[in-house]
Amino acid sequence: MKVLSGLSLQEIEEITDSLKASKFRARQIHNWIYLKSVRLIDDMTDLSVKFREELKQIACVSDVKVKVKQVSKDGTIKYLIEYPDGECVETVLMRFDNRANLTACVSSQIGCAVNCSFCATGKRGFIRNLTYKEIIEQVLTIQRDTGLKVTNIVFMGQGEPLLNLDNVLKAMEIFNDSFQIGARRITVSTSGIVPQIYELAKNDMQSTLAVSLHAPNHEIRKQIMPIENRYDMEQLKKALKSYVDKTGRRITIEYLLIKDLNDTIDCAKELAMYLSDIKCNINLIPYNPTAKNDFQRPSNNSIQKFKYLLEHSGKKVTVRLERGADIDAACGQLKGKAEKYNESTDSES
Ligand code: SAH
Ligand code: SF4
Repeated sequence: MKVLSGLSLQEIEEITDSLKASKFRARQIHNWIYLKSVRLIDDMTDLSVKFREELKQIACVSDVKVKVKQVSKDGTIKYLIEYPDGECVETVLMRFDNRANLTACVSSQIGCAVNCSFCATGKRGFIRNLTYKEIIEQVLTIQRDTGLKVTNIVFMGQGEPLLNLDNVLKAMEIFNDSFQIGARRITVSTSGIVPQIYELAKNDMQSTLAVSLHAPNHEIRKQIMPIENRYDMEQLKKALKSYVDKTGRRITIEYLLIKDLNDTIDCAKELAMYLSDIKCNINLIPYNPTAKNDFQRPSNNSIQKFKYLLEHSGKKVTVRLERGADIDAACGQLKGKAEKYNESTDSES
C-alpha cells in the first residue's frame, strides 16, 4: 500500500500512470494532499467514484496516528504523532494574535544525541532520524486537523536538524514545491554542528539559519551544552562568518536566559563582543522549566536589562514569546512520549 503523503507530483504521476489515468488526476491528488489536506481518498470529491475505488486498492492518504492532542489556553496546539513503527514525536502549532501566520514547530529526530542540560528532548538520548516523509506528515497532521494552511515552519521541535540534514533538506524542498511555503518562511535551528553549517552555506539554503548559542564564553557553554567540547565557540564563529560571507544572509542567534548562570551584565557585554563581527539578530529565550534540573527563569526585569544592553551594541534583539507552557509545548519541553503526558522564529515581544 502506497502512502500518498510525502510524494512529489512526479511520484503521484507514476501511480496515476499505473492506473492508466491522466496526469491531470495526479495534479488533483497532489492538491488534495498538500493544499486541502484531506484525510481519506474518499474526500477527493472531484475524482470519480470508480477512480477513487481503484486508487484505494493501492494507496492511502497517511499512515500516522494522532495519539494525543492538547490545546493550550493561548491557542497553541500540541500533537503527539505515532508512526507505523510505534515511535512517537511531537509537533506544535503556534498562532500569534497579531498575525495571520500559522507556524508549525516540527521535529527532525526521535530523541537527540546532543544532550543539552536544559532540554527535555536530550534526556531520552538519540533514538532515530525521521525520514523526510515523517517530517512532512507533522505539518499535514496539523493541516488535516485544523483545516488551516500552515504558513511558516521552524525546525525547533525534537532533535538536531543538522544531524539529519538530507531528510531536512528534502522536506524543505517539498515544503517549497508542494505546500507552497517559501524558503524565507522556514527556519532551521541548530546547536552548532560546524561541518554541516559549511555544508548549508554551499547549498545556498534560502531559509533562515538559527543558532543556539546560549552562552557568552567557552566555560559557561560547555557546562550546559556538551557540543561545545566537540565544536567550540571559536570554530562556530568561523563557520558562521563564512556562512554569512557565502550566502549574504543574516543569521539568528538564539540565547537561552537562565537565572544567575548566563543572564548577568558581564555575560551581556561578553556576548555583544563575541557577536560584534557576525551579521545577526538575537532572539532571547527565557528558560522554560523542564523536570530534573534546577535552572530557573530570570525575572522580567533582568530579561529586559539584558535585552537593553545587547541592543546597545547595535543588534536587533527580540524576546521569544512563551507559547503553550501550560501543555509543556514550549521550547525545550518536548519529550515525545505518551506516558506522563502532562508536557518563531520570530515570535518577539
Ligand atoms: N536542536 C535544535 C533545535 C531544537 S530546540 C537546537 O538546539 O537548536 C529549539 C530551541 O529551544 C533551541 O534554541 C533550544 O536550545 C531551546 N531550548 C531547549 N530547551 C529549552 C528550555 N528548557 N527552555 C527554553 N528553550 C529551550
Ligand atoms: Fe537536542 Fe536542541 Fe535539545 Fe540540545 S536543545 S538536546 S540540540 S533538541
